[in-house]
Amino acid sequence: MSNLLSIVVPCYNEEQTIHTFYEEVLKVKQEIPQINFEFIFINDGSKDKTLTVLRELEKKDPEQVKYLSFSRNFGKEAALYAGLNYAKGEYITVMDVDLQDPPSLLPKMFELLEENEDYDCIGTRRVTREGEPKIRSFFAKSFYRVINKISDVNIVDGARDFRLMKRPMVDAILELKEYNRFSKGLFSWVGFNTYYLEYENIERTEGDTSWSFWQLFKYSLDGIIAFSVFPLVLSAFVGLFSFIAASAALIFFFIRAAIYGDSTSGWPSMVCIILALGGLQLFCLGIVGQYLGKTFLETKKRPIYILKEKSESISKEQ
Ligand code: UDP
Ligand code: MG
Repeated sequence: MSNLLSIVVPCYNEEQTIHTFYEEVLKVKQEIPQINFEFIFINDGSKDKTLTVLRELEKKDPEQVKYLSFSRNFGKEAALYAGLNYAKGEYITVMDVDLQDPPSLLPKMFELLEENEDYDCIGTRRVTREGEPKIRSFFAKSFYRVINKISDVNIVDGARDFRLMKRPMVDAILELKEYNRFSKGLFSWVGFNTYYLEYENIERTEGDTSWSFWQLFKYSLDGIIAFSVFPLVLSAFVGLFSFIAASAALIFFFIRAAIYGDSTSGWPSMVCIILALGGLQLFCLGIVGQYLGKTFLETKKRPIYILKEKSESISKEQ
């Protein structure tokens, strides 16, 4: 099926938004009649009626709508992986269900992909962050600056997960079976040619974002740890530097005591130094611990998601 587009949609507590999303996408379909659509909704352990809504939607439109349902909340990254795993299309797009990824961009994305044989993927990028708290934008911006400096993947500021990919790129992503998934990094790591389409930020239609500031912060740290060993290098350097500085100071104090005699003054500074070094050690140990923890999780080789239920019509290709 060379003209099938698979739309992968992770849903977590989205009973209010699914219908609007579905209708909006079908409206757009009329603009690209040469393409057939396949929706793959992933119910990521929602606590509301998301699954019921999905079952009903599948009954209504069994040709186009398919769903997967997890046994618990595994996170958006796991949902994306599951969806890509079951997608059959030659073209695959991943979209948020809250219409923050405007379906109206799809025809344009198709046009770009078809006009330029060299492109493997059309990504989207928000050029404004209107409607987002200032402090959140600031941290997001800093995160992109840091991760691009210290890791070998390049993540475009404001790039969304929303993208239209050709099959080979998706196959490459599916090859990456790691447990700690940071999609923005994975999309970049596999390479291929991505062109970024720019658009203005759009606020969520219904419901609330399920990400708290703290979750986002942890997510960005995960991203850095998954794609960079720079923190390890940094901690080694800090350790080495303080060792050299402390040794030099020790020699200095020793010589001074030999010449001018011992004095008991200076204890407060000594205590400070001991505490500072102890703190540094704990800090570096913490960084090492982060990596060790991630490695520990990876070595268990646990599945990225567990399915509890899925559409009958859906099956894996591989
Ligand atoms: N989502 C998910 N599992 C989660 C959290 C979110 O599948 O644990 C889905 C959610 O239903 C939505 C998308 O991921 O389709 C983006 O979530 P949200 O809009 O809350 O995030 P934001 O747009 O604020 O980044
Ligand atoms: Mg959203």
